Amino acid sequence: MSSVVIVGAGPAGIRAACTLVEHGLRPIVIDEARLAGGQGYRRPPPALSLDIKRLMGSEYGKYEALHRDFDALHDKIDYRPRTLVWAIDGNMLYLISDGRPSTQTFDKLILATGAMDKVAPLPGATLPGVFTLGGAQIALKDQGCLIGRHVAFVGSSPLLTLAAKQYRQMGAEIALIADTTPLKNKIRELPTLAKSPRTLMRGIAYQAQALASGTPILSGVTSIAIEGATRVEGVRVTTASGRERTIACDAVALGYGLKPETQLADLAGARFAYDALFNLWLPVTDADGRAADNLYLAGDGAAIGGADAAEASGALAACAVLTDLQIAVPISTMQGLRRTVSRLRAFQRGLAGAFAWPRHMIRQLPDDLTLCRCEDVSVGDVRTAMRREFAPVEINRVKAITRCGMGRCQGRVCGPALQEIVAEAAHCSGTAAGRLRGQAPIKPIALAAGSEP
Ligand SMILES: Cc1cc2nc3c(=O)[nH]c(=O)nc-3n(C[C@H](O)[C@H](O)[C@H](O)COP(=O)(O)OP(=O)(O)OC[C@H]3O[C@@H](n4cnc5c(N)ncnc54)[C@H](O)[C@@H]3O)c2cc1C
Repeated sequence: MSSVVIVGAGPAGIRAACTLVEHGLRPIVIDEARLAGGQGYRRPPPALSLDIKRLMGSEYGKYEALHRDFDALHDKIDYRPRTLVWAIDGNMLYLISDGRPSTQTFDKLILATGAMDKVAPLPGATLPGVFTLGGAQIALKDQGCLIGRHVAFVGSSPLLTLAAKQYRQMGAEIALIADTTPLKNKIRELPTLAKSPRTLMRGIAYQAQALASGTPILSGVTSIAIEGATRVEGVRVTTASGRERTIACDAVALGYGLKPETQLADLAGARFAYDALFNLWLPVTDADGRAADNLYLAGDGAAIGGADAAEASGALAACAVLTDLQIAVPISTMQGLRRTVSRLRAFQRGLAGAFAWPRHMIRQLPDDLTLCRCEDVSVGDVRTAMRREFAPVEINRVKAITRCGMGRCQGRVCGPALQEIVAEAAHCSGTAAGRLRGQAPIKPIALAAGSEP
């Protein structure tokens, strides 16, 4: 029997597994997390008495259904939690589990690796008390911790108001929600967003709840700086009308939306194209998730779409695997899934316009700001390297010369901002600036564990 491996046990990976099991296969499901569920539907450790029903609010029904369905798979799949896939070479996966290395071959590979925060440096962003927006949610859902008592949510993302709501429910005071995208962008995207009315109404409700609770919400702020002597003490913003305001807080959650985790797709041979709306290089797939021979991508790791799109695209990628293995799948099932995925991903494209990556703000960052924290490279170091004779003009050369993106995060954190700084210094488009290539190990592993792939 063909060996089908799924990497990722979030909504996409779980629905892919359910679909394969329904058709008589026994997939291997690998996930580096302790418990299945992925990011949005993260399951808290049993010892943590967290009121997950209260935290998930109206999403609790979907959360519960996903976990119930995954639990029902337990003897029908080969589930390997706490296992990181750190490299792929041909049809071989390189794994590390509790410090022990191993390998796994596959005939068909579904990558459902999800997304991570898209961030850019800000003055003061290295102060203790500054977290990514997703990091703030993980602290809450995985550890039952608030990042502070009086928290500012800044950046540009629909998750700003969602995370603020979760924090408020768990006892935090929300000092500020500051969004760099002007209100007019949101109004412009309304016709696209209205095609998924329930999701749109949920977003509006979060916004209304924040306003009703007295939280200051600022749209279209043109600069953000985090202030404090030894840790976060406040946030200084320039409002859309040009006024400076400083708001006291003891922690900051920062995020400009999400970016797909694509390093494994890169190592597995996916092709990439620059997407000028997301300002990211994204993997190219067909409508069902096929990215290369025997390689299928699903969920936010293929294209940001949210949890519902992740579930549908996971099931669809599994249908593509089944079809390619000559196992019949009703055409109506696949057509229905394609429609759902396409509608929900179109909605996310609307959100990307309504909560835009602040390109111009990032291109004008001051020289003394740290861009790559792993290797301590400043924005100015990159600009200086690019001004030299025989200067690099392509992002991988810039990385080799400055070491920006060469540290522990492998450019997963600093990559999007580096892309903008390189494009601005070279006076070229994001496409012409090039794409940071994925390298193994995609995440830090112990030297002793990593035999050469
Ligand atoms: C931090 C964070 C918090 C979020 N919170 C919310 C929220 O509260 N509400 C909401 O609607 N949306 C939230 N989202 C959006 C969320 O990503 C999607 O809605 C949804 O979870 C996407 O599902 P997925 O299956 O594609 O990916 P995910 O749910 O992200 O699952 C991917 C899984 O792949 C695993 N994985 C990744 N790489 C590897 C590897 N190399 N080896 C082994 N395993 C790997 C991860 O451990 C993870 O379990 C959040 C996103 C992030 C990044």
